[in-house]
Amino acid sequence: MSQKITSYPGHEITPEDLKASKYLEIIQKVEPKYSWAAGVAISRFLNELKEGRLIGRKCDQCERILVPPRMYCERCYRPTDSWVYVKDTGTVNTYSISHVGTDARRLKSPLLVAVVEIDEASPGMGILHTLSEVEPSRVTIGMKVQAVWKPAEERQGAITDIRYFKPFEGV
Ligand SMILES: [Zn+2]
Repeated sequence: MSQKITSYPGHEITPEDLKASKYLEIIQKVEPKYSWAAGVAISRFLNELKEGRLIGRKCDQCERILVPPRMYCERCYRPTDSWVYVKDTGTVNTYSISHVGTDARRLKSPLLVAVVEIDEASPGMGILHTLSEVEPSRVTIGMKVQAVWKPAEERQGAITDIRYFKPFEGV
């Protein structure tokens, strides 16, 4: 048994056809906009940043202070108990000297990216941020640092309300 195959004549649309405006072409610029809920703990954290303060959550069972704060202690499997203000000083846990920017271009002066463990928070957690006012060759793991804040009128409730961390000589 044979089946008759109907063929429809057609052809490829070439770039030349498009240039000659033989076909309708629509160019659309997509501008996606995102929004998300920061959650209870990070919302408070961000609001406190706007006030120039760092805050964490304390778990009364393991006595850890979590910075950035979390409403739940993953070690004790229970909700955390209270809010605790902490100092804006800390210790460099790890760092990277980046000679390439986010647009893949070589930077004139390198960007110093670091994870800073906040002094009064429990070890093993930290804030990813940048270091400045220090020569790249002088950065070390264990280096003491302090937050440099934007002026109050420029703060927006974002981690960038801290401009960067700088070496800290105090106690
Ligand atoms: Zn705990």
